[in-house]
Amino acid sequence: MTIYRERRERLLSALREKEIDGFVTLNFESSDAANIYYLSGFHGSTAALIIAEEESFFTDSRYIEQVQNEVVGIPLHQVKGKYLDDVADTVNKTKINRLGISSNCTSYSLIETLRKKLPAIELVPLKEEVEQLRRCKDKEEIARIRNAIRLTESSLEKIVAKIAPGMTEAEIALELEFIMRKAGAEKVAFDLIVAAGENSALPHYRTGNRKIERGDLLLLDIGVRTGGYCSDLTRVFAVGKVTAQGQEIYDIVLTANRTGLAAAAAGKSGKEIDQKARDVIAAAGYKDHFGHGLGHGLGIEVHEQPRLSLLSTDILEEGMVVTVEPGIYLPGFGGVRIEDVVLIHGDGCEVLTSFPKEELQVL
Ligand code: ZN
Ligand code: ZN
Repeated sequence: MTIYRERRERLLSALREKEIDGFVTLNFESSDAANIYYLSGFHGSTAALIIAEEESFFTDSRYIEQVQNEVVGIPLHQVKGKYLDDVADTVNKTKINRLGISSNCTSYSLIETLRKKLPAIELVPLKEEVEQLRRCKDKEEIARIRNAIRLTESSLEKIVAKIAPGMTEAEIALELEFIMRKAGAEKVAFDLIVAAGENSALPHYRTGNRKIERGDLLLLDIGVRTGGYCSDLTRVFAVGKVTAQGQEIYDIVLTANRTGLAAAAAGKSGKEIDQKARDVIAAAGYKDHFGHGLGHGLGIEVHEQPRLSLLSTDILEEGMVVTVEPGIYLPGFGGVRIEDVVLIHGDGCEVLTSFPKEELQVL
């Protein structure tokens, strides 16, 4: 049995407990790309999938050959007209009574149209059914995440050796992406963040044209996608020299990062791990300078479940892969974030990232 079939069976048995006997995934222009990939192995922008006792996969001429290679063991329908017509025709011919559909990834208008075409079938919007399954990673997924991290770290090492005052943030980001792609990354997992000086105080800064200067903090938040899986890593460097303020916040964030890593284990809540790391920052007097959550799940997408934050209701389980990324951001001066990725075990976690962080390295 393929891992994809195993996942579809797990989904179906979870749905049967809710008396739902089918599930349809509509992926148009990548609207549900991560879930359809997880459930079938399909890696393209447009296709639909019915999971029920009788399964069906729908795609059009652009993807037929690709699907024949990627999707194993699901009858394939080539769509020549409208996707929803073919999907509805097929559903109407099956014994499905209640059909689940992702309310997160399907537009309201698609759901409305499908409802009209399936008058005798109850369409049940489900918020995060597949996302729930994706939380715990299997061996193959973990191997792919490790691989993405390895590629990211070796690329970071290469760019760090090249960075010099006078380069712009954008030049560094472009050069780094080139190194990553050359090393085999499918693509960057998100727009690489290279933030110098005061820009590093913006947690989701858009890399711009500022030149890096002596005395700056330089923050790099970077990741790749390879084998369908993402990495996510943040490190901060000092340009030319270390300032007292830069060193101070670096040391606090490093302690918060280590505290978060030490607290991460199966059975712990996302909220309590966040709180432990946050307490370190608050005790040092920077409570108001750490606004975002401590971390997030990582996998096919760069931000997945579970969440480590004060609002999180998630409990960690063995096999989850999450980031731990506390930060301190001082407007007008700069910021420090130290982000690692961990694999959750029963009695703790394994830190998958290994790029050095012990010292605020001077470039
Ligand atoms: Zn990141
Ligand atoms: Zn992150």
